[in-house]
Amino acid sequence: MLQLIRGFKDILPGEVELWQHIEDRARALFADFGYREIRVPLLEKTELFARGIGEDTDIVEKEMYTFADRKGEMITLRPEATASIVRAYIQHRYHAVDPVQKFFTIGPMFRRERPQKGRYRQFYQINAEALGIAEPLIDVQLIHLLVRLLQRLRVDDATPHINSLGCPVCRPAFREALLSFIAGRREALCSDCQRRSTRNPMRVLDCKVPGCREAMAEAPAIIDHLCPDCAAHFAVVREKLERLGIAYHLDKRLVRGLDYYTRTTFEIHTAALGAQSAVAGGGRYDGLIELLGGPPTPGVGFAVGFDRLAEIVALQQADFSRPAQLFIAALGPTAQASAFDWQIALGEAGFQVEMDYADHSLKAQMKRADRLRARRVLIVGDNELQTGEAMLRDMATREQTPVALDRLVDTLRQSLANS
Ligand code: ATP
Ligand code: MG
Repeated sequence: MLQLIRGFKDILPGEVELWQHIEDRARALFADFGYREIRVPLLEKTELFARGIGEDTDIVEKEMYTFADRKGEMITLRPEATASIVRAYIQHRYHAVDPVQKFFTIGPMFRRERPQKGRYRQFYQINAEALGIAEPLIDVQLIHLLVRLLQRLRVDDATPHINSLGCPVCRPAFREALLSFIAGRREALCSDCQRRSTRNPMRVLDCKVPGCREAMAEAPAIIDHLCPDCAAHFAVVREKLERLGIAYHLDKRLVRGLDYYTRTTFEIHTAALGAQSAVAGGGRYDGLIELLGGPPTPGVGFAVGFDRLAEIVALQQADFSRPAQLFIAALGPTAQASAFDWQIALGEAGFQVEMDYADHSLKAQMKRADRLRARRVLIVGDNELQTGEAMLRDMATREQTPVALDRLVDTLRQSLANS
């Protein structure tokens, strides 16, 4: 039997309604706050991610799906959306027209990491990016959006973990402090960390290997090394979050697995996922646009892990699938032909009506109505066609109402619209 690739998955009817529900809420929220949808390709030149995300990151080092296409050009299935959105921003010269742009996008990402619960090789993200705004207010708006999205989905314990990563002015001194801290503990680090610790010591702070976490527990904190501008920026973020009543956790060890982050960095945690995994992550990336060939432009954004979010929301609300509004049990070819016409007319009017397309027994048809969780059933046979009247049965109350068949569409319309 042919099966899907490890780490990939189908999202089947029954579950897909939950995904649509989440997507609807996200789209509504983005519309409220002026974030416009952008859709970028799934494939980009490898160079975009190698440069944008950083050569020494886990994603670029070992997680990307990279191929040579037929002419030998190296291309990669996108592991995240920010680099592509920034590429589009530069390519379509938004910076020249109006540098302030707020975008969102929803779609699949690809990372070849070890599949496990909440970790897939094709997974989905909801992304928001605000470009062209350096002020900390927009960082706060994005964190607020994340918390609101989760609240609207009835996830009430979403806690932002925040930190500041400083900027090219203050990072060198911190880097030195970190390097000398690591120098005394190299033996305790995993081989990845040992290799990259001298080139990119911040990576070591982000390593999930327990030995590395332990060795780095007392490492110097970036926020103790911030320059005055970065310190002031972060102070506003904290103050505004407090003013909005958003309870956050200051996590001095929070860094993220991509190179482009500066200043405000955040993750959203919920108890449902446990300590090690976040449902969303994001932060400021003031150097990225320039790094990718655009003019110096600040940026900040987030990515929500859609799969993990769906998992959490499913814990709160069990069933999102839409029951059929009416099932027409038709007995005999004449009744079937009429039922088909009614079904089309009601469907056109916006009602979900189901029928059995083969001439099965009444019992079999009622079983099917049950499985579809039909709210009402209309039983039509030769008798009903002759008298011109049939019974409409409400499956919850078991109430039966006679309906004139020549006025069926109107009657059903009324009865369905009233419920
Ligand atoms: P993690 O630390 O869990 O590996 P990350 O830092 O690599 O996450 P980001 O690149 O920040 O993740 O992506 C944002 C969000 O996307 C994460 O918080 C997570 O919810 C989700 N995510 C990341 N990788 C995967 C994956 N392989 N499968 C499912 N969701 C993922
Ligand atoms: Mg990861």
